[in-house]
Amino acid sequence: MKKLNEMKLTMESRSVNEGFSRAVVAAFAALLDPTLEELSDIKTAVSEAVTNAIVHGYREQSGPVFLTATLTDKPSVRIRVRDRGVGIADVAEARRPLFTTMQGERAGLGFAVMESFMDRVQVRSAPGKGTTVTLEKTIGGKRHDG
Ligand code: ATP
Ligand code: MG
Repeated sequence: MKKLNEMKLTMESRSVNEGFSRAVVAAFAALLDPTLEELSDIKTAVSEAVTNAIVHGYREQSGPVFLTATLTDKPSVRIRVRDRGVGIADVAEARRPLFTTMQGERAGLGFAVMESFMDRVQVRSAPGKGTTVTLEKTIGGKRHDG
């Protein structure tokens, strides 16, 4: 699997950047000529990961959110969202559908959404250090035009 193209950007943990990162990743992934459905899946997953970095990673604080998108000749897109926030003590528990540390405010479905829209979701985290979420999706792997 060869890397075709890559972009990196750093932004502040502000909620306006959820929409900004969706748009940026969609524009970049569009270079692989994905279907509208694939593009919409990628945008939704990126939104969830960036939202988590902002609301959970940094909570009331603010800090940098690092976004990397890589296009491969598979063809596939790989997106990495990294924060230097509070981190996650138990990743398996955090990934469970309906688990949330913001009861009453959040549904606890972000990771479940990322998993259902992407082919692979990897979460690496260290309490006090931050979290890295890697999302991967093959483009053109699942057509619904038959
Ligand atoms: P929803 O996404 O439905 O609004 P949620 O954000 O609580 O709710 P998930 O996105 O599935 O649900 O995340 C589950 C839990 O994992 C969060 O409640 C939070 O405790 C933890 N978590 C997720 N991402 C991060 C992060 N970047 N930094 C710290 N904790 C995180
Ligand atoms: Mg979430």
